[in-house]
Amino acid sequence: TGGTAPPTDRTNTDHHPTPADAAFVSLRGLAKSFHGQRVFEGIDLDVRAGTVTAVIGPSGGGKSTLLRCVNRLETPDAGTVTVGGVRYPADGPLDRARRTALNRTVGMVFQSFNLFPHLTAERNITLAQQRALKRPRAEAVQRSRELLDRVGLLERADAHPHTLSGGQQQRVAIARALALDPEVLLFDEPTSALDPELALDVLAVMRSLAAEGRTMIVVTHETRFAEEVSEQVVVMADGGIVEAGTPRAVLHDPAHPRARRFLASVR
Ligand code: ADP
Ligand code: MG
Repeated sequence: TGGTAPPTDRTNTDHHPTPADAAFVSLRGLAKSFHGQRVFEGIDLDVRAGTVTAVIGPSGGGKSTLLRCVNRLETPDAGTVTVGGVRYPADGPLDRARRTALNRTVGMVFQSFNLFPHLTAERNITLAQQRALKRPRAEAVQRSRELLDRVGLLERADAHPHTLSGGQQQRVAIARALALDPEVLLFDEPTSALDPELALDVLAVMRSLAAEGRTMIVVTHETRFAEEVSEQVVVMADGGIVEAGTPRAVLHDPAHPRARRFLASVR
């Protein structure tokens, strides 16, 4: 496929429209090791468009690595990732058209916010749009302000990250991710670094995203949140998905001993 495609042109990839009821994100046989140490293998997962999948499990179980294989911050060793009808095989680096398509489709929110410390909240959000989407500055500023308003932080538009609480920084990071108009959002323990009270504001924003039918994969230990918003919950442990199903089944009646042990520890 041609490496000269402009950022918004997906015609050079094998893109097929996603039927309304089909999986928007599909993982098949996904495997990843570091230095010969298996993190996971044989991961199969389908995330339907407009639904939330919660990923839970013990520390070191490969949850972050799984998300990073979806947006290709890590290269899987085997398997395929299909997002929005575009197939991203594991073998080798992505060509430029697929890299661009993936970056345009998938947004990510990290545990540690990852805001630029020397930029204001608004500038953090605006810069991302100018760089990634080549959006004109005035339009980007307008969008930043709409999104800051949405996450309840319009009055802090000119604040630098260190003057904001952790919860406020994370809401800016969510606004920044939304500003790039992703079709699926990945959250990696977005509230784990926050005091419980500050986590509530972040979870409220995430609930509103779920309610408007966003496709989301959320790694979280907030089992109540997972129960409220997710269509399915998966438990990652021991190199794979040990349990998957409805929140009710997985959170209240897990079959696998490893899942049972983990759930007992977070309640
Ligand atoms: P979780 O998010 O469930 O806590 P991770 O995906 O962060 O788990 O880590 C899974 C395993 O992979 C851990 O043993 C971790 O040490 C290892 N790991 C993760 N990233 C790397 C890396 N870049 N290099 C080497 N090992 C890594
Ligand atoms: Mg992690």
